Amino acid sequence: MTQKTSRISGFHKLSVSERIDQALAFAGLADSDLKALFLDTGNLPAERVDQLIENAVGTMNIPVGVATNLLIDGKDYLVPMATEESSVVAAVCNAARQCYDSGGFVTSMSGTRMIAQVQLVDVPDPGNARLSILERAEEIRAICDDCDPVLVRLGGGFRDLEVRIVDAPSGPMVVTHLIVDTRDAMGANAVNTMAEKLAPHIESWTGGRVYLRILSNLADRRLARARCVWKLDAIGGAAVRDGMIKAYEFALMDPYRAATHNKGIMNGVTAVVMATGNDTRAIEAGAHAYAARKGWYSSLTQWEVTRDGDLAGSLEMPMAVGLIGGATKLHPMARACLQIMDIQSAEQLSRVIAAVGLAQNFSALKALATEGIQKGHMSLHSQNIALMAGAQGDEIARVARRLVELGTVRIDIAEAELKKLRDGGV
Ligand code: NAD
Repeated sequence: MTQKTSRISGFHKLSVSERIDQALAFAGLADSDLKALFLDTGNLPAERVDQLIENAVGTMNIPVGVATNLLIDGKDYLVPMATEESSVVAAVCNAARQCYDSGGFVTSMSGTRMIAQVQLVDVPDPGNARLSILERAEEIRAICDDCDPVLVRLGGGFRDLEVRIVDAPSGPMVVTHLIVDTRDAMGANAVNTMAEKLAPHIESWTGGRVYLRILSNLADRRLARARCVWKLDAIGGAAVRDGMIKAYEFALMDPYRAATHNKGIMNGVTAVVMATGNDTRAIEAGAHAYAARKGWYSSLTQWEVTRDGDLAGSLEMPMAVGLIGGATKLHPMARACLQIMDIQSAEQLSRVIAAVGLAQNFSALKALATEGIQKGHMSLHSQNIALMAGAQGDEIARVARRLVELGTVRIDIAEAELKKLRDGGV
């Protein structure tokens, strides 16, 4: 038998259907049902799938839920969230319900500026190179703005310049930051183009060699902020409040806890980023780098008691999302989700996402500080387990209910309960 090989030349030139055939044949699966599964691209047209990425063979559908009760800057929102995790949407709805009557969320944004980095090495005189670059700010502005007249016409473009000397093991590097207002675009392509265009100029001004020319995902000139006050009686009293603050302080001080605390925030953030076709990895990289900006990894949120004894929470994090570019414009579902939220600008979307992240964190802290996280997860999780056990139709709810009654959500118990049900026992 010949060894099968993944070395396939010209795979990208095949049609989607041919690629599926090849992938199935590689796995020894001549199965027409599987092929049909790959060919069903749901709400993303097949030709669009093939345009968006290389070597496309299908799509991966994720449920989209709508978070309710969100009052943000005085405006009511229904927020679509794309997530496979069962408790995420409910957590946002619950947190938002508990602060709706006290005014909801207040948000702000530091601006829509991105940073592109140009790395210069083998520089004869780094200090002098730094000054030579800084002295050419106006020339640099013209080179950058020339790359993107559309962006400039829309009020964006080059804004500022920073140059740092980074001491690397192989010698000093001179790192230039181009600070660019990318308006309603996430801006990666826009700023990368500028950095590439500028590179030969920097080499000629300094005598060094440019290597990397790429945006930084630590988008700390593009910070979204949300804050909110939860009244003491809405959350169940002082003991709940104090427990939540203790839970927050754990994340503030301990990176093992902070990683999970921030993962919870990202449950909300990433779901809206995904639903709007934005780049989830860009947002996650920015979030975690920002969480470690003080030299240790810590909480992205802050929680405290107000003068009146209520609970106040706030979130600040980089939020490089756009309405133009990538899948935001090309995925019909992303467009539909933006329409449901009535989003008019990238800034507005960023602020909504920050509010959702804060709401998510509220619910996680509250559950952890009171009944524990599993109780809230139990009913949705039990449905998933019932499905995994093979329950169908109204069996799903019946098996799930039984698992909750028994207080043990396990696949073996679900299988046994399903069998009893089918045997006419329950
Ligand atoms: P893009 O280049 O597709 O669109 C941006 C351009 O659209 C602007 O440069 C401008 O010319 C034009 N434009 C039209 N209307 C605009 C408006 N109202 N506001 C601003 N610009 C407007 O997209 P992009 O945002 O530059 O790049 C985003 C894509 O880059 C994402 O798909 C992302 O995944 C990808 N990417 C990310 C990284 C990273 O995060 N490290 C690196 C490379 C690429």
